[in-house]
Amino acid sequence: MQAHSTADEETKGLLEFYPNHPPRKDTPEYHATHKLLTHTLDQPCRDCGVRLSTLADPSQNPHAAKQMETHHWPLQREFADALDPIKVGKEYPKVTDRKSLNMFIDSPDNMLVLCDVDHRSPTRGIHHINESLEACKRFLIDGYILADIAKNQVADLAIDEALTSQEIDQI
Ligand SMILES: [Zn+2]
Repeated sequence: MQAHSTADEETKGLLEFYPNHPPRKDTPEYHATHKLLTHTLDQPCRDCGVRLSTLADPSQNPHAAKQMETHHWPLQREFADALDPIKVGKEYPKVTDRKSLNMFIDSPDNMLVLCDVDHRSPTRGIHHINESLEACKRFLIDGYILADIAKNQVADLAIDEALTSQEIDQI
């Protein structure tokens, strides 16, 4: 495989349609799940490994995260009203109807622990990068720059080329 870095300038040109719903407040189920995963179980950020108990330790907090957060995954809460409970139940048997779907959405089975950087930052946040980047993010070589604003492109690509250049001709 040849090491090769390119900037992907393609724009999707698609609009995403979320079902109409009045703004929701976090449910008691969500708060209980968040507390269980981040406080009681001290679970790590899936992508960088930092935990609530290690946020203050720079050696275990590679992206200088400030807090632990929880992300609805794989099913976004915003889509709950547009999901068919029967279809969801085929993969998640706990879901049998609209009520159990709404409970599932906020449960630990549909929640991912992420640090604030891997959750919301423009260049690493699961809310901003596409699914294929998200899938690779946590396995990247330390220092590899996944995404950035256009004015940093030349410098970023040089860093990424340097990090991956030793891979040339290995396959
Ligand atoms: Zn993280």
